[in-house]
Amino acid sequence: RPMTAGDRPEERVRVFVRIRPTKAEGETPGALRVKPDGRGVVVYREHASIPSSEFDFDRVLGPTTSQSDVYHAAVKPIVEDVLNGYNGTLMAYGQTGAGKTYSLSSIAADAIGMIPRAAAEIFSHIEGDSTHEYTVYMSYVQLYMELIQDLLRPESENLQIRENEAGVFVGGVHQQEVTNITQCLHLLHLGDRNRTTAFTALNAHSSRSHAVVMLTVIKRRSVGLAGGEGAEAEIQRVKVGKLFLVDLAGSERLKKSKSTGLRASEAKSINLSLTTLGMCINARADPNATHVPFRDSKLTRLLQDSLGGNAKTSLLVAACDAAEHVEETMQSLQFGMRAM
Ligand code: ADP
Ligand code: MG
Repeated sequence: RPMTAGDRPEERVRVFVRIRPTKAEGETPGALRVKPDGRGVVVYREHASIPSSEFDFDRVLGPTTSQSDVYHAAVKPIVEDVLNGYNGTLMAYGQTGAGKTYSLSSIAADAIGMIPRAAAEIFSHIEGDSTHEYTVYMSYVQLYMELIQDLLRPESENLQIRENEAGVFVGGVHQQEVTNITQCLHLLHLGDRNRTTAFTALNAHSSRSHAVVMLTVIKRRSVGLAGGEGAEAEIQRVKVGKLFLVDLAGSERLKKSKSTGLRASEAKSINLSLTTLGMCINARADPNATHVPFRDSKLTRLLQDSLGGNAKTSLLVAACDAAEHVEETMQSLQFGMRAM
């Protein structure tokens, strides 16, 4: 792997598949088998005449995997990086119902999701570090039909992506300072409520938009004093790390017969952003790639600084074991495998 302009080698995207338990009603389990090494999955099609297919990943997390196990495998290394001033991204990909939101946002006491876990780890790290001062900001936006909407300030429904020396950012997005996990949970709840009320009125069903939580960690350390004679100023070393946690729009293909009017436009913009995302992460997996099409969608533009270079990225492909969903599941596994 080539060295980047930064100070360490570029890393590839790490791809995890999480298989949720099948539901008691309406789902026939048995479409997937985790390989004994825990790094691959075999897909069995409904008709025995169609041969099975195999896919390999960094890890396959089966139906009994706990949220804590998912966190340690796919998220913790990213959070540790963000605390050291690097950017990082966790994305959940998969068809609607496959377990993206459960994995990222569950607040059930026995199944806390990745977002609250990441936030909790950031605050516990801060608590234990007396040599630095930290400031943490949280933002929460949704991307729907190539519009960026502020879930913490729903009146802002068409935010623009901007760029300066420090990188890419969402102009005018609300950045709420947070100092503890309770505040983060409150903002998540507020954002989710806005997602289902304010934006459903605009027809933006949550499965057809991408939800992006951003946690910005600013870390400062005093390294001495400059000047003198009463004009002394503290010199600080500052590191900024950004963590993106992305609940992607459902990857299912809309039935052609239903794809008219608004539904067709939604499908088009979801396809555009997921296809572009795929191309951007595939380019990272390909040392000979010259052009990375970050600019082709708002999603990839927003994630640009956190998808490439020396940002750690984990892709969590949410899948299910049901025969009824096997074709969509195949598509999701293919998306994941191309990213490696
Ligand atoms: P998505 O966000 O991909 O549309 P959800 O996260 O809403 O899917 O999951 C669909 C349903 O399956 C929800 O009722 C959720 O609670 C349940 N579910 C998903 N993953 C798991 C899991 N690993 N364990 C138990 N229940 C799960
Ligand atoms: Mg969801």
